[in-house]
Formats: sequence, C-alpha cells, structure tokens
Amino acid sequence: MSVAGVNVAGMTQTTQHQAPPVPGLTDRDAGTTAEPAPRVALAGAVVPDHASPAGAVLPGVSPDGIAPGVSPDVLTPDAPTPDAPTPEEAAAPVRRRAAISPSRAKDFRQCPLLFRYRAVDRLPEPPSQAAVKGSLVHAVLEHLFDLPAAGRTEQAAQELLDPQWQELQASRPDVVGMFAGPEDLGAWLAEARSLLTQYFRMENPTRLEPAEREMLVETELASGILLRGYVDRLDVAPNGMVRVVDYKTGRSPNPRFQDEALFQMRFYALMLWRLHGRVPARLQLVYLGDGRTLTHDPVEEELVALERDLEGLWESISSAARARDFSYRTSKLCSWCSFQSLCPAFGGEVPPLPPEGVEHLLTVQGV
Ligand code: SF4
Repeated sequence: MSVAGVNVAGMTQTTQHQAPPVPGLTDRDAGTTAEPAPRVALAGAVVPDHASPAGAVLPGVSPDGIAPGVSPDVLTPDAPTPDAPTPEEAAAPVRRRAAISPSRAKDFRQCPLLFRYRAVDRLPEPPSQAAVKGSLVHAVLEHLFDLPAAGRTEQAAQELLDPQWQELQASRPDVVGMFAGPEDLGAWLAEARSLLTQYFRMENPTRLEPAEREMLVETELASGILLRGYVDRLDVAPNGMVRVVDYKTGRSPNPRFQDEALFQMRFYALMLWRLHGRVPARLQLVYLGDGRTLTHDPVEEELVALERDLEGLWESISSAARARDFSYRTSKLCSWCSFQSLCPAFGGEVPPLPPEGVEHLLTVQGV
C-alpha cells in the first residue's frame, strides 16, 4: 500500500511553541464541553455534526499549527522503538471483531510476519523504556484535563507523574524489570518529567477544553472493512471545526518521513469523516521530544485515496491469511523487532499458525 504519493497539501512543520489558531478553533475556545470529557472510550463517538458541508476545508487557514500527541516514535526509521500494544489490545479481555488499526497497518507494510505475530498469534513482547515512557506521559496529559482549567499547571502535571507511574506498574508489573536499578529508573522518570515541561512550552492547557480524550473510534467502510483507532485528543470549535491531536514523546521526523508520520492521522481523519460526514479541519502531531509540531489540513481526495489504499492492504492481508503464508521482510527496522528468535532471517523457526487467530483476523471484513 502506498500512502506516499498521496497529495499532502498544507503539511507544515513548525518550531513555534504556540500554534497559530485555526479560524473558529483557537487554543482559547477549542472544544465546547464545559465538563471534563468522559474517560470512558466512546465507540464511533462524538463529533457534533454542525452545519457545514461534508468535507469542508477551513477557509483561509494558514498551513501551520501546533498540537500535542503521545506514543513512541516508531515512525522515524532512524530511531524506532518496539510498538507497544494499543490500549484496546491491552484492555480488551474479550476479543471483539478484528479491525485494522494504524499500527497494525504499518506492521504489515513493514513485515507480514511481524504483523502475524502481533495480530494473529498475539505474542507478548517485552516492554521498552521508550514505549512505556510514552504511555506514562500520555496518561499524565490525559488526566491533566480532568482538573479544572485553572489548575492545569506544570506543577499539577508533574504531581500526576508519580501516581500515574504507580498505576502503570500495577497494571503492567513487567515494566519494573526494564530498569537496571534505581539510578536507571530515576533517569527515566527525569526524562518523562522533562517531556511534561516541554509540553507546557508548546501548549497552554488552561485555555483548552478538549471535546474528547483517548477516544475509541470505530467505523466500517463501505467495503465492509472495520477500522479502529484511539484518538489522543479531539478539539471541537463552536463552529464545528474539528482538530485531531496526537502526542508523540519522540522527536519529529525528518521531512522525508513526514508523510509516513501523518499516516496515522489521516487514518483517524478517514474514520471521523466516514462516521460524521465531515473532514476534520486539522491534524496535529505534537512532538515533545524536540518541541516541534507537524500539522496538516486534510482534504477529501487524499482520504478517498487512503481508503483505496487500505482496501488494497486488506486484500493483501486476507490473501496472506487464507494462504496461511505471512512471509518475512527484512529491513533496518528488524533491529527493534521482538521476534528475531522466531524469524528465519535470524535463524529462528516460525511456529505453527494458530487457526483461531486466522479465523478472528478474517472478521475484519464483514459480510
Ligand atoms: S526480524 Fe523478522 S519478523 Fe521481525 S521485522 Fe525483521 S523480518 Fe520481520
């Protein structure tokens, strides 16, 4: 599948610490909810369907902006980290219908065998410091918005770090084993604190009232393919304009990889458009690792192209599943793969394919 080549109008990277406002959607008035957004994920939720034609693009928007986001920077080939389980994978004891997520789509494009181990075999992977740090900072920023606007200070965020770290350890006891000792843990926590400091250089959360945080979005395309993803933050302006925000704890990508970095955001934009009939006005990636923001104002044409790409991708995945053949594809990203011991490229042996895993995977496309 090729997302590269899709028209990327309006994509900009900036080093500014405060994003220029989108008309009708400024940091002051972003979001409309007076009460803190519910912490329960909402499937297919949320965007008020205000009066605006489907696919409306912001008039006169300057192609720049700012926003936050979280998750390890697996998108930059020079500094990838093992991909952590998505929240849905970590939290879902009951297997729902399978769906394509941005992470798994990227996995298949990178290496079908890697995809198989994660999506079909669902093999456990050891936690990585980078991925867990992303989860921790992400959790702090999510809970920061539970506080009244005036209380969303850097000090408040720093005070949330320890309790969130305790909670993370309780839910994932294996994370403790990531550290060689107290000094290693201390340095890691200091890095997390510094990312929070960076966040406050980039945004002023006392002036934001997100419509949604950690929002589960699911939508079935006309082709019957189910898409699923978690949106870090959704800001909705009084005029209905929507900004999708994602926090990243890594560094911003080299310009050559910006289009790839935006794949996840376009994926969300496609889901929201198909759910609510309106293209989000802005997609915003906030890189806390270097204080840069990548923004893009999507248009219908590129989302249509992405939908076609995803259908082609599913064709490849389902063909591999039916043929029981997920071949491996080496790349420099293999250095960060957790499954080298099960990979022929590294002398490993591929285990039998679990039939129930294949059966479940094929539920991605409904009939
Ligand atoms: S190590 Fe093997 S399974 Fe992992 S990404 Fe590389 S080729 Fe794929």
